[in-house]
Amino acid sequence: MYHIRIACLFVFLLSGLQPAASAFDIVRDGRPAAIIVIPDAAPEIIPYAAGELVWHIEKSTGAKLQVVSESQLHTLPSAAAALGRVYLGGTHETRATGIEPSRIPAETFVLKTTAGGLVIAGGDGAGIPFSTNTPAGTLFGVYELLERHLGVIWAWPGELGTHVPKKTTVTIPDGLDLTVTPPFIQRNVRGGLTFKGKYAALGFTPEASEDYARAQSAYLRRHRMGRNERMAYGHVFPKWWAQYGAEHPEWFQLLRGKRGPAKPGASYSMCVSNPSLHEKLVGDWIAQREKNPVPPGATSYLNACENGVLGLCECDTCRSWDGPRPADYDDPYGSKSKMRGSRFVTDRYVKYWQAVQNLARKTDPNVVVVAYNYYNYFHAPTPGTKLNPNFLIGSYPSGGGFPRSQEKAGWFRRQWLGWHDTGARLFARGNHVLDGYNAPHIIAREFADEFRFQAAHGMVASDYDALTGQWATQGPNIYVLMRLHVKPGADTDALLDEYYSVFGPAAGIVREYFTYWENYTRENRDRLESIFDELGVSRSRNWPVAAHRVHPPGCFPPADAILARAAQAAARDADALARVTFLQLGLRHVKLCAQVSALLTTADPDSTLARGRAALDALIAFRRAHEREWIGNFNHSAWEESMSWVLPKNAH
Ligand SMILES: [Zn+2]
Repeated sequence: MYHIRIACLFVFLLSGLQPAASAFDIVRDGRPAAIIVIPDAAPEIIPYAAGELVWHIEKSTGAKLQVVSESQLHTLPSAAAALGRVYLGGTHETRATGIEPSRIPAETFVLKTTAGGLVIAGGDGAGIPFSTNTPAGTLFGVYELLERHLGVIWAWPGELGTHVPKKTTVTIPDGLDLTVTPPFIQRNVRGGLTFKGKYAALGFTPEASEDYARAQSAYLRRHRMGRNERMAYGHVFPKWWAQYGAEHPEWFQLLRGKRGPAKPGASYSMCVSNPSLHEKLVGDWIAQREKNPVPPGATSYLNACENGVLGLCECDTCRSWDGPRPADYDDPYGSKSKMRGSRFVTDRYVKYWQAVQNLARKTDPNVVVVAYNYYNYFHAPTPGTKLNPNFLIGSYPSGGGFPRSQEKAGWFRRQWLGWHDTGARLFARGNHVLDGYNAPHIIAREFADEFRFQAAHGMVASDYDALTGQWATQGPNIYVLMRLHVKPGADTDALLDEYYSVFGPAAGIVREYFTYWENYTRENRDRLESIFDELGVSRSRNWPVAAHRVHPPGCFPPADAILARAAQAAARDADALARVTFLQLGLRHVKLCAQVSALLTTADPDSTLARGRAALDALIAFRRAHEREWIGNFNHSAWEESMSWVLPKNAH
């Protein structure tokens, strides 16, 4: 569907009559050489895009470009009217160039020099600019321009992390004519902005929390996070027992002879082989379509995602749908994982999704069924199982954090390929970006290899849950995660070099610094796994139980020494020095946290608040002093800490 629309766009573009284009200055010798023209009636995303363009160009050159609407053009003084023009969105000039913005697919954009200047136009939509639901093609076009022609690098949120090389003249080369469609239909790394610790003093103040959310949301848009179409999905059934349990117990899991949750309030799975459950799900979807009709040309998504719990129904039909348990089923799971020894139910879930799709196709032959492969239906189905591209399956591993042994990496790849072989479309729906707390847990290369592998084998979208936002300690991890969403084929070293380049003369030493931590992370892989296995805690929820054991005091001095050298190398470059200081603050933060972990971990029966009070106060004082530097999302840290440490009961 999607590629057909793109093809139409190309035909349309080629048929336009275009005047000859020539090289074009936006800024010349530090002075504005162009104005920015926006349509009179523009969606909110267009003035936002203009603001982003103006801000970055001014930061680079000192020249502040004027933004005018088309109807103001004839009122301009002659000096301004004589300047070159950058047209954003659906202006008359855009249309005169042969580009009809309303025919550009959502999020696709065109950059084109014309006799009249430069046109940046894309598939835009209504909505607030920070929302990833707002189609932002023109905005993405602006970012493409900033990246290609100003060399901008968005290393982390906020001004310090925004690298804008200094220039006096910005020239758009001759004959620029570029159409770009984002490589994935959805690019989503959830922001992690709703995390909150029970002990509020460890998090941001409310004002800093709001500022952080703004800075991070801007950063995510700069990395082109968004989606071509709204596709709502997620666990469908959490409230169904309360709603329908009394009338339709047969829709719910049969466990030890009883329908529904094992005990009141417990999570539950569904009896997914029950035809009346399929009818109810499809009936709800039809009712929804009647209330909110699907726009012409848009895809209708049917959410069939099971609850966040193992598939547990023991009824005869569900069990008869199961295939033979694969020999390698338990391989990647730790001794205390609930996955170990669980029943293999993938084939059952595949049959459930197929039944739902078959039913829904009577209403809409193009319906796309969205489902997660999860827990005991994460393992690939029995070989030979066939699905089709109208299944969009979120690959949702339990565990599988990085680094991985070769055997484990191979296991995860076999599952991905097994699902890819069914013919379904896949999206990465991992939770493992939540791994690592605020520790210097560097896994950038391994993660990038995995991402590229998935992108090369049928990955059409992503939905990672969620950013830890630990910018000063895990920067390389997050940077490759972001950049691979824009350039999925890019070489890892090239991406890391981009990131390190923002440290100017210290770039090579900063590379050495993160390589130190990447090696440390890899060399301590088995130790890390056995610590978490021994404690029975989750790396993505309560890592601070063991922060002091994963990073004992002895691992820090070599890292401090490297950063001291980096600071020396950056001494005469104010931006680079400030960025090295940012890394140093991040490391100081890690050490403070490890000290608190050692004294207040819930894993030690001797942990008392009195024992850790001084260390805790030091950490809180540090966070208050540095809460607007975005070294990390302190709310995320506080969320994990509240599940890991002995803390005061009062919530302030
Ligand atoms: Zn059942």
